Amino acid sequence: MRNMELIFATGNAGKLREVQQICDLLGPKYGVSLKVLPMPEKADIPETGVTYRENSLQKAEYVWNRWHKPCIADDSGMEVDALDGGPGIYTARYCCRDFAKGIGKLLKELDALGADTPEKRRGSFVCCLTLISDGLVRHFEGRCPGTISESPRGDAGFGFDPVFIADAAPDRCMAELEDNRKNSISHRGLAMEGLFRFLAGEGRYLMD
Ligand code: IMP
Repeated sequence: MRNMELIFATGNAGKLREVQQICDLLGPKYGVSLKVLPMPEKADIPETGVTYRENSLQKAEYVWNRWHKPCIADDSGMEVDALDGGPGIYTARYCCRDFAKGIGKLLKELDALGADTPEKRRGSFVCCLTLISDGLVRHFEGRCPGTISESPRGDAGFGFDPVFIADAAPDRCMAELEDNRKNSISHRGLAMEGLFRFLAGEGRYLMD
């Protein structure tokens, strides 16, 4: 096993935990032991881009410029077809940090639009992950298509997991899945798989 530690540019403890789980899931497959560390101090990182990639880069650059340590950041969101791809990169703001409120708002909007069949409730979770290490910037992307359920179910995960039914696990809402089942199909899991593939190949020199 080769080893690496990366600061993860997030203030969201749920995301940090989830990314470490993904590392533990993928590590043995790629021969890479990756530990994600919280930021050394709490920071309110600006997020002013208009794409996932810009936001993810902005977060990773913030950490690199402040602490000069190898780091990753992600920017993610949910794109709902009936909302013309919204809330998209504005998903975090749509929730106002209150996931239950965000879910209520989404279900109400879909009802108001008459989106009353699974076909009319299509959407995707999207993630762009950025790695920065000395002289290196890399992006990895993941997308998880699915359907917005009629009502929330389950209490695992975070964010919109209780109302998202992934095509790759159509029997349940994401918040009803075992952590590693979500992690093996999620937008973030797929983006992280790109990172592991890179680290196990071209990026080997970054590890012990
Ligand atoms: P950000 O990537 O921190 O800007 O946050 C994106 C927002 O998208 C989160 O606050 C959640 O509402 C939503 N989101 C992103 N990934 C997931 C996920 O894996 N499950 C559920 N909701 C998610």
